[in-house]
Amino acid sequence: MAHTFVRAYIGLGSNLDHPVGQLRRAIEALGTIPESRLTAVSRLYRSSPMGPAEQPDYVNAVAMLDTRLEPLALLDALQAIEQQQGRVREGKRWGPRTLDLDLLLYGIEVIAHPRLTVPHPGMKQRNFVLHPLAELAPELHFPDGSSLQDALRETLPGRLEVLDRDEDDSATS
Ligand code: ATP
Ligand code: CA
Ligand code: CA
Repeated sequence: MAHTFVRAYIGLGSNLDHPVGQLRRAIEALGTIPESRLTAVSRLYRSSPMGPAEQPDYVNAVAMLDTRLEPLALLDALQAIEQQQGRVREGKRWGPRTLDLDLLLYGIEVIAHPRLTVPHPGMKQRNFVLHPLAELAPELHFPDGSSLQDALRETLPGRLEVLDRDEDDSATS
């Protein structure tokens, strides 16, 4: 176990089986991860799917978690939450799913492990990651020293809109 708390950021996504409810449950579950404190959660966003186009829109958010878990233990905890919420792992990359939890950043660490790449590859090209992240940490810099604000200045593909606070799941499921 790491001795001090490390600030991690988690990307949440769902486009199956009531995505808003999936994200709410996932946020509750993130609050129960041992050795960790859920310190902030962004608003919910609706985004167009990456990859296979014949699937529903996604609902996305980013959470800030201060944790004493080592990165792989944190990944285990995230994957356990995905499993609890009925994530079925199929062959198809970027296919529809009830819940996806990606470890975006773990402090300023760079991790290259067969199970875990941090910073999450591609996060700088994903508007549905960068915008919610900027709500939580507008001044953030990546481990390579580049800034979140610079990444946000790039024009990125895909639709993105903030979900109304009281919006139910009927529009997104
Ligand atoms: P993408 O990673 O491009 O967003 P995805 O989320 O659809 O795609 P998954 O099928 O959820 O990909 O994950 C495949 C594997 O990626 C997982 O089994 C996990 O071990 C590995 N992985 C590597 N780095 C990370 C990370 N930073 N966060 C979560 N999983 C990761
Ligand atoms: Ca993902
Ligand atoms: Ca994932």
